[in-house]
Amino acid sequence: MKYSAPKGTRDVLPGETEKWRYIEERIHRICELYGYKEIRTPLFEQTELFVRGIGEVTDIVEKEMYTFLDKGSRSMTLRPEGTAPVARAFVEHKLFGEAQPVKLYYVGPMFRYERPQAGRFRQFSQFGVEAFGSKDPALDAEVIGLAYDFFDSLGLGQSQARVNTIGCPECRPRYRDHIKRVLSEKLGELCPDCRSRYGRNPMRILDCKNESCRAIVNDVGSIEPFLCEECSAHFALLKEYLDALSVPYTIDPRIVRGFDYYTRTVFEFTAGGIGAQDAIGGGGRYDGLIESCGGPPTPGVGFAAGIDRLLLAMEANGAAPNLNIRLGCFIVALGQESKVQSAKLVASLRRRGVSADMDYMERSMRAQMKHASRCGARFVAIIGQDELAAGVVQLRDMDRGEQWPVPLSEAVDRISECLMSASRK
Ligand code: AMP
Repeated sequence: MKYSAPKGTRDVLPGETEKWRYIEERIHRICELYGYKEIRTPLFEQTELFVRGIGEVTDIVEKEMYTFLDKGSRSMTLRPEGTAPVARAFVEHKLFGEAQPVKLYYVGPMFRYERPQAGRFRQFSQFGVEAFGSKDPALDAEVIGLAYDFFDSLGLGQSQARVNTIGCPECRPRYRDHIKRVLSEKLGELCPDCRSRYGRNPMRILDCKNESCRAIVNDVGSIEPFLCEECSAHFALLKEYLDALSVPYTIDPRIVRGFDYYTRTVFEFTAGGIGAQDAIGGGGRYDGLIESCGGPPTPGVGFAAGIDRLLLAMEANGAAPNLNIRLGCFIVALGQESKVQSAKLVASLRRRGVSADMDYMERSMRAQMKHASRCGARFVAIIGQDELAAGVVQLRDMDRGEQWPVPLSEAVDRISECLMSASRK
């Protein structure tokens, strides 16, 4: 074949798209329940937004961005994540002037030039929420609770939040120095990535997946003794609210997240059975982000989940939905005159809200019946020569194998009634 989908991207074909829609419907539902409103931002932004927002010394900005010059020689980047664009929109549209907190959510594709593997793609979809304008740890708990309820609604309730705090620009440097002190003598035992992180972003060593690094990192201990009073109080209240909301969680000092914009609360959810790429969602508080996007000082907290991985996790955990989407009625017709009647009936059924279809391939009656059951038709209406002459259709209940004549003039009413009563059973 001449063309194929670019490496790390996929086509989602019928059979799969229904599952995507199922998840998307759950997303809209949970956000409505929690009072979040949908926002849609462009798929590309000025490169600078991500460099400043996510941080120069991050995996995404250093090596994963799809960056290009447009015809006006402006540097643009396909969005690798959703928080910086939403923050940009918050500032641009002066949403800080509205009643706070402003609670937003998004769903859509993101782009990262990563090495493709199971569960890791170059184009993938995320659902995320962002709540701007409040420092209240109750809001952090709400966001974690929303994430948990969402995963639970997909049958992934066993995925619990692993929660941590990374302090603020005031207290974090103390912990950073502590990490460097503890690891200074073991530098040679760390993986090459962590050796380079040591100088630039030592906290990222804590979440390295490499076994030998993990063992060394055990000596580092939690950030808690290094926290300033406010960060410490924030973390204590967060735990209290999570308990109050009955959101299951564990405290994990290794959760640090990969972006520069996080402050205080950070959290991650993982799912079993999907291999090494097992993070299904994560987020945290980012009190400095709006200011770095040129807005007034505005705290914020949010989270994002990867839809591609959720589908894999649902499959692996026996939670995949059984989406047997059926056709209401297939019209089987033979001969030109019957076909015109068939087209008329299909149109009337569809206008009545009944999904309906007919043959466009000049199939025999038998082949049309076969095709109808391939389409999952609940009912079939047959208009042969005899039926045409008698002004009737033979209505066939495909599940029960029963068949009876119905006047053509009443066919739409009868078929809709039958479908209605079938759906009640
Ligand atoms: P992040 O924005 O890196 O915190 O990622 C949030 C979620 O998006 C992760 O937990 C994953 O579920 C998903 N995700 C991130 N990168 C990818 C990728 N390359 N392919 C598929 N899903 C991804």
